[in-house]
Amino acid sequence: MKLSRNLLARKRIAMVAHDNKKKELIEWAVYNKASLSRHELLGTGTTGKLLEEALDRSITKLLSGPLGGDQQIGSMIAEGKVDVLIFFWDPMEAQPHDPDIKALLRLAVTWNIPFACDRATADFLLTSPLMHMEYESIVPDYSSYLKRDALK
Ligand code: PGA
Repeated sequence: MKLSRNLLARKRIAMVAHDNKKKELIEWAVYNKASLSRHELLGTGTTGKLLEEALDRSITKLLSGPLGGDQQIGSMIAEGKVDVLIFFWDPMEAQPHDPDIKALLRLAVTWNIPFACDRATADFLLTSPLMHMEYESIVPDYSSYLKRDALK
């Protein structure tokens, strides 16, 4: 039996940007303000606050990324509470919360959610017709993993 999650037309989009990438994410979000108005937005603390000011709308703000915000988004992905991730991470600077970043990217793949890590991919994602319609997302089958004999 295939497991799936039904993503509504109004998506729950989580946004995160590292400090050197925040300007780029804000610019992208302002450019796409009309499209984004059709979706629910949430973000890590500082990214969320900047988005709120730039888009003049309320955004669910989690903790700042290095203080647990990335992990909060990861857990929301696992629980089916986030549909799409826009994560502008900085390839040129080491981050104190590198394990959290890796964990977030891992969970996005684990749960087969659409995610973009740069502006071009974010453009392709946001302009997909699927962003504005219901979508049946297939959840990978982890049943044999869950039923494994962990004591053997
Ligand atoms: P911030 O977190 O939005 O609170 O700055 C982003 C990050 O994960 O570094």
